[in-house]
Amino acid sequence: MTWRAAVLTIFPEAFPGPLGVSLVGKALASGLWSLDVIDIRAYATDRHRSVDDTPAGGGPGMVMRADVLARAIDAAADGRPRLLMSPRGVPLTQKKVEALARGPGVLVVCGRFEGVDERVIEARGLEEVSIGDYVLAGGEVASMVLLEACVRLLPGVMGCAESGREESFSEGLLEYPQYTRPQEFEGRPIPAVLTSGDHRRIAAFRRAEAERLTRERRPDLWAAYLARSGTKGATKE
Ligand code: SAH
Repeated sequence: MTWRAAVLTIFPEAFPGPLGVSLVGKALASGLWSLDVIDIRAYATDRHRSVDDTPAGGGPGMVMRADVLARAIDAAADGRPRLLMSPRGVPLTQKKVEALARGPGVLVVCGRFEGVDERVIEARGLEEVSIGDYVLAGGEVASMVLLEACVRLLPGVMGCAESGREESFSEGLLEYPQYTRPQEFEGRPIPAVLTSGDHRRIAAFRRAEAERLTRERRPDLWAAYLARSGTKGATKE
């Protein structure tokens, strides 16, 4: 079954962009997922095809109009989750990505200007999703981040089904460091255990490294990991 994405944007020419290359692009070409790019401006009705207007109450910039956006949404909406890319949204996580990838697809609205009239967010039940605590110029790149993260999880998209499991966040830990040939690079050898052929020791080394990196770099993830697992299994400091 095809996972169906619809993107609503005033810059349709930005798509598929990076979603058209590599495994995600091949999956698009082969129909594992579909991308319907909807030009919000096509739903404007005035002579100037305007999609934005000045903010009520004053202030800088422009706001995306509720009526135009609502028409664009209504033309595309079916049972899929309806998302609005927004710095005010719930932060996107791998857990959320996994849930979306298991569903039928998504409808994603890309904001522009100062944002979107609050009434269309309410009236169309848009779920606001953020890709991080920084402000972009528009929702297009953010929507691509979300779509790429979802599509790579769809069955048949990644070459090796295994690589979907043992990576950053999948167990609440960051991924362990990776190495490949040459055996020595600028005086740095590959850690000997990785070339020992001892799979139990390799697994233990990787687990310890994943825990070390998570503890050092992401105290938030580390605290949550400890809370979930007790301290059992976690390497002592
Ligand atoms: N004035 C707004 C920012 C508008 S940025 C505010 O302060 O919240 C314009 C558009 O870019 C937004 O409507 C949203 O669609 C997108 N955008 C910006 N930063 C984003 C982020 N961190 N995550 C997701 N979308 C973002």
